[in-house]
Amino acid sequence: MSKPFRTLDDADVAGKRVLLRVDLNVPTENGKVTDKTRIERVASTITEIADKGGKVILLAHFGRPKGQRTEADSLKPVAAAVAEVIGRPVGFAADCLGPVAEAAIAGMKNGDIVLLENTRFYKGEEKNDPAIVEGLAKLGDVYVNDAFSAAHRAHASTEGIAHKLPAHAGRAMQAELEALTIALGNPERPVAAIVGGAKVSSKLELLGNLIKKVDLLIIGGGMANTFLFAQGKHVGKSLCEKDMADTARKIMADAEGAKCRILLPVDATVAKEFKAHAPARVVDVDHVAEDEMILDIGPKSVVMVEEAIGTVKTLVWNGPFGAFETPPFEAATFAIAKTVGFLTREGKLKAIGGGGDTVAALNEAGVAGQFTYVSAAGGAFLEWMEGKALPGVEALRNT
Ligand code: AMP
Repeated sequence: MSKPFRTLDDADVAGKRVLLRVDLNVPTENGKVTDKTRIERVASTITEIADKGGKVILLAHFGRPKGQRTEADSLKPVAAAVAEVIGRPVGFAADCLGPVAEAAIAGMKNGDIVLLENTRFYKGEEKNDPAIVEGLAKLGDVYVNDAFSAAHRAHASTEGIAHKLPAHAGRAMQAELEALTIALGNPERPVAAIVGGAKVSSKLELLGNLIKKVDLLIIGGGMANTFLFAQGKHVGKSLCEKDMADTARKIMADAEGAKCRILLPVDATVAKEFKAHAPARVVDVDHVAEDEMILDIGPKSVVMVEEAIGTVKTLVWNGPFGAFETPPFEAATFAIAKTVGFLTREGKLKAIGGGGDTVAALNEAGVAGQFTYVSAAGGAFLEWMEGKALPGVEALRNT
């Protein structure tokens, strides 16, 4: 059976100009890269292509220059950081199109690595402008996409170009696609999802898709308040989207129809003020006072969630159970994260986490490394959880 996506295993890169789209949108301070995680993720793809004798031409965006050339959004300092991570020289070309890029590439030997300037210095990049696509495609013989986090956008360097050259997934993209397939594509059942975070309104499509796919949907965070409110409970001053009550009831009814069990918290940690170390108490969700707000799920709910997770084979997690950035409201998220990490390490569970805040929470709980996979891709991960086709990924599909 052929693999669903073309990978580096099927790519002929020796002696070829390989345009490698990577995510180098790293945080910087005074021109220095402060977190190299994104570079580390693509390092093995870069060195593998170079070791196979390809000329590695790195394509990436940086910041939001919106078609303007700005020094603050130049990728130049990032070239040095890439060189440091992979322990090899990395050249830099001050343009990603035209004579400057062409000259830099013409001077490359097999195995050399060059980073081209920010693709978003051209307006047409984000518009998938055919002229930009053509200009980029001219620079290479093969295209490899290792930027899952940018794959939900049909841009010239993430999608358009994939139709002009032989196109393959890099190793980081491949790992991401394999993890996502484990989680929702073809999961070992029963499969559960945790959806937490602030608001129902921002995760409507995600909830709608998940109830069709998972056996158990565990709802936490601020959005659980809206569901509790929809069930007629008083949530006091809690974050709650009262105008979403009908939507929440519809989700619960649809879940029942789809044989997806929904688990809501039964108790909560509440406080009168939302600030670090505010005096807090634990109450059943039926007894939240008018001047209190729910800032975390309570200990009984933690046990209930952990027991439920103990019965499933696969778990996909997006969103914290409480306001985890503000102690003591991190307790439930961290406790459950540790249990998930433990079950995964024991081989009893496959756990995939993703989304900005979730990655931060799992890192802080010290368990990200114990998960089967943690996706650093925010928007792309969410769109994938919503069941949407990601254009940058679709372009790599074996048809
Ligand atoms: P999201 O980006 O939708 O995943 O939301 C994440 C944010 O939700 C985090 O910043 C949490 O602090 C916040 N959050 C989670 N639970 C609550 C809650 N019960 N009340 C207020 N904010 C919450």
